[in-house]
Amino acid sequence: MSNLTVPFLDLKAQYESIRPEIQQAINTVLERQMFILGDEVAQLELELARYLGVKHVVTLNSGTDALIMSLRVLGIGLGDEVITQPNSFIATTLAITEVGATPVFVDIDEETMQIDTKKIESAITKKTKAILPVHLFGAPCEIDKIVKIAKIHSLFVIEDAAQSFGSSLNGKHLGSFGNLSALSFYPGKNLGAYGDGGAIATSDSQLYEKLIMLRNYGQKKKYHHVKIGLNSRLDEIQAAVLRVKLKHIDKWNSLRLGHSRLYNHGLDKDKYLISNIYPNGISNYHIYPIRVSENFREELIEYLSANKISTLIHYPIPIHLQDCYTYLGHKRGDFPITEHAALRLISLPMYSELDQNSIQFVITTLNSFSC
Ligand SMILES: *Cc1c(COP(=O)(O)O)cnc(C)c1O
Repeated sequence: MSNLTVPFLDLKAQYESIRPEIQQAINTVLERQMFILGDEVAQLELELARYLGVKHVVTLNSGTDALIMSLRVLGIGLGDEVITQPNSFIATTLAITEVGATPVFVDIDEETMQIDTKKIESAITKKTKAILPVHLFGAPCEIDKIVKIAKIHSLFVIEDAAQSFGSSLNGKHLGSFGNLSALSFYPGKNLGAYGDGGAIATSDSQLYEKLIMLRNYGQKKKYHHVKIGLNSRLDEIQAAVLRVKLKHIDKWNSLRLGHSRLYNHGLDKDKYLISNIYPNGISNYHIYPIRVSENFREELIEYLSANKISTLIHYPIPIHLQDCYTYLGHKRGDFPITEHAALRLISLPMYSELDQNSIQFVITTLNSFSC
């Protein structure tokens, strides 16, 4: 047996590679003693907008807030329908129900695991206001086609780009296609803060003006409240950390891409199904998912774990089957591709600092598993 241990994610390894820069950046904020809506946030927002190729970025408390506030600023609420997918992190749908709107699910595509664009139009009704697709696992959904469908039907597009920072389609960064895009800086995301954080990217200046009020108690100037707002701001320490990390993100994402290629080439295709990436798309490989037969998934996870290889499942329970959403009236069988995937998916270890020995060890271990 090997003496390697392969964690699913190793944040410490990344920290060690940037420790002096991070400590200096945090120290600068401590010396300045300005913690909310200061220089770091202002600079980060400009840098993120430039990186993504959008006019504006508004940083917020979390990716979940970014989704909620995107819906709110578009005036979406009670009686409105929003089209989304049942395979995602729960927050995508939580945002829709939080504003009082109704999620309308569309199943995913078998090959890419992204929302099945062919099924979107038949889900549109008079009540539909927006399409909220996810770039799941960091890989692009067919966002160019979705934007076209939305134009034809006069709908808004909100991209859930929480997992896809740095990914692109046709040379354009994800997060720059929709009317609004939600980003997350949760520590485990590719561009992760050292706490919670999120942002909205948009090229619509009117929406931007509203969002900067909304996140700050709805005030235009101090103690003058023109909108009913809330408090959802990224703090200066997190912004300083993210500014350091933003300088490294392309290098880190390309390391992940290299790892994905080793997995793609090395894994036994008779046993393991690898998802396709939408043509002309580049994934940041936030997650590296494979699918295995549901008959031996549990056994395989135990075998990997016995070999000190950590894995996760994204996601074990489809959103339409979660207890909190029984009131929506869905049943097993409503979204068969998502449900089947939930039984078969396994996510392999993936982070920039993962070394080639560990990747080879994961591949050899997987290929030697006898089912
Ligand atoms: C992480 C994530 C979110 C929520 O982001 P938080 O910053 O954790 O609130 C939303 N959607 C998807 C797809 C995510 O992966």
